[in-house]
Amino acid sequence: TVEDSSQKKRLLISFLKEIENSKTEDDVISTVTRAIKMMFNNFDVMFIASPFVSKPVEDVFTTKTPLYIPSTLRDTRYPKTVWNDTEKSVVIIPLVVFSKPVAVIKVSSSADNAIKKTDFMTLEILSRICSTTFENISLYRTTEEMARKDPLTGVFTRRIFDEKIDEEILVSARTRKPFSLLILDIDHFKRINDTYGHQIGDEVLKKVADAIKKSIREFDFVARYGGEEFAVIMPNTGKEQAVEISKKICNEIKKIKFAVDTDVITLTVSGGIGEFPSEGSSKAQIIRRCDERLYSAKNSGRDRIVYE
Ligand code: GH3
Ligand code: MG
Ligand code: MG
Repeated sequence: TVEDSSQKKRLLISFLKEIENSKTEDDVISTVTRAIKMMFNNFDVMFIASPFVSKPVEDVFTTKTPLYIPSTLRDTRYPKTVWNDTEKSVVIIPLVVFSKPVAVIKVSSSADNAIKKTDFMTLEILSRICSTTFENISLYRTTEEMARKDPLTGVFTRRIFDEKIDEEILVSARTRKPFSLLILDIDHFKRINDTYGHQIGDEVLKKVADAIKKSIREFDFVARYGGEEFAVIMPNTGKEQAVEISKKICNEIKKIKFAVDTDVITLTVSGGIGEFPSEGSSKAQIIRRCDERLYSAKNSGRDRIVYE
């Protein structure tokens, strides 16, 4: 009836909005399922993520084309055995995300000819919005992930460092265990840029980041703190152990031999260590403590870690 169809359209519009606003794939799936159940209360809905459950599903995956069989009893494409008793009327629509089929939505009814052509079109609209929302969620995630890591060195950004140190302060308060912070700065890095060019400088920065990553434990955290400065957060770690790890980092950085033409670039770093909360009981204080010690490492000849 007219009444029925305009009611369905209103429902469809409100569900489309809800699907678009979903934050996760699971949200999308549950909203689409709810939408189909509400608009067609006698249809069954299933999301299927594997092509290998039946021949029709596999075909929809491979062709990326929807399958609409109003009556499986009268259908000649597939043998009756591919359908179970409750599948007298079937629609299988692919969910194509960045050109790849990732799942299908299967809608079925136990009544012959129950799924009308207009129903099929409504289901196609729902699956399209579902695919588009999957793509949006995935793009959003990639962008977020990119903003977390420094593109040059692959270590975390300053923004994530700020979040991580806040977190560790809370953990330390709760567990009454210290954590340590190390701030490292490459010695005379400007000379490398001036002598060999900025691009070589970039390559050297990558090598330094790799050396740090290689020296720290799995639960330690490293961020690019500034241009040629790195910060390492060592959770649940007192100063004595932090000094050991920092020495390991310095040794690993000293092993770097970067050949440019006939020259070989070698490096040293200076650093300052601070223990939370004994040497700074707020974020600002512990960072300032490390900065002061880094400054004193520079002033007393570089190539060293100052920790008291
Ligand atoms: P010091 O031993 O006192 O730390 O001397 P320095 O030369 O390392 O310190 P300074 O702060 O004078 O110079 C740091 C240099 O790092 C200046 C800047 O051009 C360079 N730098 C910062 N970020 C980058 C980057 O992303 N790539 C390159 N190639 N250079 C960078
Ligand atoms: Mg610096
Ligand atoms: Mg420097």
